[in-house]
Amino acid sequence: MSLRVQHWVGGKPLAPSSADWLQRHNPATGELVADVARGTPSDVDRAAEEAEGAKRGWRRLRPAERGRLLNVLAAEIRERHEELADLEIADSGKPRGLALGEVEGSAAYFEYYASLVNLPLGDTLDVDPDQHVFTHREPYGVVGVITPWNLPLNQAARACAPALAAGNTVVAKPAEATSQSTVRLAQLATEVGFPDGVFNVVLGNGAEVGEAIVRHPHVRKVAFTGSVAVGQTLGHVAADRIIPLSLELGGKSANIVFSDADLDLAAREAVRGFTANSGQVCSAGTRLLVQRDIYDELVDTVCELAGKISADNDLGPMITENQYQQVKRCFDEARDEGLTPVLGGRTAGTDIPHGGYFIEPTVYKDVDNSMHIAQKEIFGPVLVAIAFDTETDAVRIANDSQYGLVGGIWSRDVSRALRVAGEIEAGQVFVNTWSTGAVETPFGGHKHSGYGREKGIEALDHYTHLKCVIVALEQPQR
Ligand code: ADP
Repeated sequence: MSLRVQHWVGGKPLAPSSADWLQRHNPATGELVADVARGTPSDVDRAAEEAEGAKRGWRRLRPAERGRLLNVLAAEIRERHEELADLEIADSGKPRGLALGEVEGSAAYFEYYASLVNLPLGDTLDVDPDQHVFTHREPYGVVGVITPWNLPLNQAARACAPALAAGNTVVAKPAEATSQSTVRLAQLATEVGFPDGVFNVVLGNGAEVGEAIVRHPHVRKVAFTGSVAVGQTLGHVAADRIIPLSLELGGKSANIVFSDADLDLAAREAVRGFTANSGQVCSAGTRLLVQRDIYDELVDTVCELAGKISADNDLGPMITENQYQQVKRCFDEARDEGLTPVLGGRTAGTDIPHGGYFIEPTVYKDVDNSMHIAQKEIFGPVLVAIAFDTETDAVRIANDSQYGLVGGIWSRDVSRALRVAGEIEAGQVFVNTWSTGAVETPFGGHKHSGYGREKGIEALDHYTHLKCVIVALEQPQR
């Protein structure tokens, strides 16, 4: 039986003013799992008014009290990890282990930012003996958070935790395919004592609801995670309104293996790097750059390991039929470019209406970096393997991409690893690991992968702005 999922506004459920609902089917099984509120700009207005009304009280709480609430929410997320994982699985069809990991990561965001509520700090500036000058950072007020469908709860927590810790109130919009967990998160926040209006969620289509959030006059900063095309659209809107926007967009990240690396470990991690969550991760390592003398051996090992992975049990489905078709189109494009996959290249789905959207792990060998399949972000478990000769070649190929989100380097030569890390155009670089990037590690892109940073202490800079106060000191009469 499907469930009706309403907005969460002002500490209460809110029915969509459209009286319209979007059906959500589990993409693994085809089962109808939820009727999701189809929001409108007028629903966004309700949420923004609530957030605006709550902002003064939230900002004026002692930071330690905000931190306490964030910690209680983290504990509640842990307590309800099975329930939250169930919601994530219903919407996305992903394997339970993955969903549980995501829930744990979400709790960690609230805990981490709970511990940082007294940051960021200001300074006192020694300008003039007759003045006391200091800076401090203030919340923006109402922050808009727009998130995608690949790691729904995690992405919501990643942005909402620092925004709330810094004293902002939030209007969040999850992707229409994966609405349930973000609504439950906001409900839990209310249940553990967050004041009404501090954490609001509006559901619905991106162009209708997402854009209305960015356009709303109460919204003073937006954190967006999603596609380049939508990021560009929102960039224009934010420019018109002169509000700050952080963009975490796509990637086509290079994972570079030199011949002196631990090849077994590099192969295992390369497989994890392109298959996790079925490749539906912006930081997936989807271009494997391998030094020529170990190229055949390493690609063979990667194929052997990836060939043991089952798309349905281990990886999970593509999130929607649209995404599934998009991956299949990439296979056609690769074929048109003269490529035959050395592994996969097939769907693994059964033909369930609205579901069964599985894709086998797929590897293309002898790919030229200029090919479409090496340049386009696919968002499926698809790897292209490219040979290189020298360190200079590796860096040139890695950087020959419109994207620059993350990069991997495998070498036992520390000097080389650090040299290459310095040359890679990406916001995070992993050496001898394909890191999952802990909460503490600032994350964000270069080039079309976006700007601004999520995670780490640095994220707080994006959820606050700086004020400088200059006080003239009256001198005593002598
Ligand atoms: P993806 O290709 O990963 O689905 P999108 O950029 O389409 O990425 O979606 C990411 C998020 O942005 C989702 O919450 C979606 O609803 C929202 N969105 C889509 N289009 C717009 C838009 N024009 N304005 C604001 N948000 C949008």
